[in-house]
Amino acid sequence: MAGLPLFPTSVVGSFPRPEWLMRALRDLRAGRISSEEFESYLDDAVLATLKEEEAAGLDVVTDGEQRRLSFFFAELFEGMEYRPLYQLAETPEARGYLESLGIHRGVYHPVAVGPLQLRLERVEREAGFALRYASRPLKFTLPSPYMLMIDSWNRSLSSEYYPSPEDLGFEVAKLLNRAVRRLAEMGVFFVQLDDPSLSNPIDPKYYRLVEMVNGYRPRQPIEEELELARDLINEAVRGVSGVKLGVHVCRGNWPGPEEAMPRGGYEKIMPYMEELRVDQLVLEFATPRAGSVEVLRGTGKEVGLGVVDVKRPEVEPPEVIERRVEEALRYVDAGRLWLNPDCGFASGATWPVQPRRRSFEKVRAMVEAARRLRKRYGA
Ligand SMILES: [Zn+2]
Repeated sequence: MAGLPLFPTSVVGSFPRPEWLMRALRDLRAGRISSEEFESYLDDAVLATLKEEEAAGLDVVTDGEQRRLSFFFAELFEGMEYRPLYQLAETPEARGYLESLGIHRGVYHPVAVGPLQLRLERVEREAGFALRYASRPLKFTLPSPYMLMIDSWNRSLSSEYYPSPEDLGFEVAKLLNRAVRRLAEMGVFFVQLDDPSLSNPIDPKYYRLVEMVNGYRPRQPIEEELELARDLINEAVRGVSGVKLGVHVCRGNWPGPEEAMPRGGYEKIMPYMEELRVDQLVLEFATPRAGSVEVLRGTGKEVGLGVVDVKRPEVEPPEVIERRVEEALRYVDAGRLWLNPDCGFASGATWPVQPRRRSFEKVRAMVEAARRLRKRYGA
């Protein structure tokens, strides 16, 4: 595969923004700098992140999603906006629920507020800039249509344009398909659709959140909801070739307390993930909340194995990471295993789970583990 070594290393996507970029964002919002000036800071932040990921030794790099306010990537669509999540949560009960999950007040949430149109030029600019400066193959992340359906369809703000959540979901899938095709043409190596929502049937904490905030209700029995999620994702990648495709599933990694986070193994959703028309499942496994890797037995997919717990502050030593890989090797061939952290280190600009330097050290330890494993497994 494109000259990649055994146990290729990558990241899930986001990387903490430099402090000066966050300051520039505050300056932009306060009108102290122009959007052109801010754009030049974004370029610098992307350059810094690409080179930092390369310095860490990653085989497949990202731009750290520096240009996005969050991994929801609402900027991708005309007709979609970010709103403060606590503003969307209108009742004291809903706000209390967000607080109980440890979600802080700076979190922005995507909302469909009009007919959606793809801003293809945004994809072209973002991927084009990263491709120009990256000296390793590039991974580009997009939000999954299922996730955007459950998160951005809002009964009071969206139903005038999209009467049902599915209307919105299939529209998003169609638009994303154009973006994926363009990314393949441009020479992006790996397109990953992010879908933490696929894990909602494992632990319905987040379904409760979107029901309270948006009025979204999952289908019952839950198997019907999983079929819908599968169909939406497959629609987004339909007919695409010439690029590696993946789907990332985690339980959400906001900086809340561990006991408030969703938990449970992949057993219930694995059959549906196997039916996704993608090459790789990028799954968190380092966190004990993700259950056993035994669920990978018999998978027909490549696995982007989460081997670094993004929420734990300590940098796991390479030996610990190697043991996690060896556990997975009981169920998956070495040739189909990639190493990555469980999730992004900063799925939103304003809610990183780790500081920038520590994120680098955690990735560095993972790269060292991969180097040792290659020696042991002979490539
Ligand atoms: Zn994740």
